[in-house]
Amino acid sequence: MSELVAISGGTLIDVRSGTPHPNTTVLVDRDRIAAVGPMPQLPETARVIDATGTWLLPGLMDMHAHTTGERHKDKIHHLYLAYGVTTVRDTGGNLTLLRLLRERIARGSHAAPSIFFAGPLLDGATPVWPPMSIMVDTPERARGAVEFLAGQGVDFIKIYNWVPEGSLQVILDTAHRHGLRVTGHVPRTITMTRAIQLGIDCLEHIRITGRELLPSDEADRLDGLPVARRETLLWERFELESESMQRLVRLVADSRVFFDPTLLVDSALSMDGYAIDADNPANADVPDDVRRAFVHEERPEIFDLSSEYVRTARDGFSKRQRLVGMLHEAGARLLAGTDCFGLGKQLPGLGLQNELTLLVESGLSPLAALQAATVTAAEALGQSETLGTLEAGKRADLVVLEADPLADIRNARVVRTVVKGGRVYDAAALREQGRSNRLAEAAVAT
Ligand SMILES: [Zn+2]
Repeated sequence: MSELVAISGGTLIDVRSGTPHPNTTVLVDRDRIAAVGPMPQLPETARVIDATGTWLLPGLMDMHAHTTGERHKDKIHHLYLAYGVTTVRDTGGNLTLLRLLRERIARGSHAAPSIFFAGPLLDGATPVWPPMSIMVDTPERARGAVEFLAGQGVDFIKIYNWVPEGSLQVILDTAHRHGLRVTGHVPRTITMTRAIQLGIDCLEHIRITGRELLPSDEADRLDGLPVARRETLLWERFELESESMQRLVRLVADSRVFFDPTLLVDSALSMDGYAIDADNPANADVPDDVRRAFVHEERPEIFDLSSEYVRTARDGFSKRQRLVGMLHEAGARLLAGTDCFGLGKQLPGLGLQNELTLLVESGLSPLAALQAATVTAAEALGQSETLGTLEAGKRADLVVLEADPLADIRNARVVRTVVKGGRVYDAAALREQGRSNRLAEAAVAT
């Protein structure tokens, strides 16, 4: 039996070309898009959602997030939907929690985006996050770890700072044999150029190692520092105009590696010293117990940045934004990821909206920023057949906006309705549900 929903009369934005198609109807049959186009005659059995005067986009995708780990995170997954995010790529967490979360979402008992996950990080002999890592300090263990994760049904592999080069080669070979892509940080002991040459599929954050661009004595001194201080001191020295930086930009673009700059988390690292953002008005949508849990969460020391570095850190962040502009200009495949989540500007969903704004500030057009969160994101997940655009046969994930996101990227956050896998949610009702401290189950608007 078909259950048709017609989202009717909106202006559909083709995220490939930027062409707006006014007066378009998206016809949804259960979890799939059945048809897209002008539809003067709607099927009689269809439930009609009048979208006149709105803009229609594919569901947005946050390509770097950590959705599990603490119980309170479960209580705000629905905010992703409220801000138009229907897919999340979880780049590291507890494998069992992630599998259970995905089952709850698939059963329809938890209002949340679809989750693609890596499970544990693969790291070297001195893992940065021991409880959520597997140590792949030898090539044999690297192979075993990837075989194990493939058997557990992960969607991709995530590598971290201290994976030795020998292990990285084996990880890439084994993962690719299983049809899994590999993403992650550039290991601190090699260069981004080397990681790309070895065949890494995607790069997380802007993590150019000192040994890529600096004399080796300086690189040795800086590359192993904790992240906030390390990136600040490296970017104080990096020169965007240098021949070696220009070469790296061309390599990233020409190799077709995906590049997920996660500017949002770097702006938190650089400008706020990872302040909790406890007073942000957006927290009105967060239940009180969740807010308290975040405020009392201990921040790891690696994020600490003493006040003497603040100015340098800010300058370094604007250099990284300029680099993102250069990468875009060169034709690199950029993604939108957040590394969320937390309170305020790092809330689920709102974080992705803020990342889109940062991408536009870096020189991308609103369309290019939206591509990073839709069509390019689907390519990076290997899901172009089912996600990333509004076309017949694809998953019914879409966002109904009150204003034109191509005119101003901030309009992408003015969500009226979101459809995920054919289920229709009212964005205001989703946000209200957090305020009244109820769990995420009751928000289906149908
Ligand atoms: Zn992360």
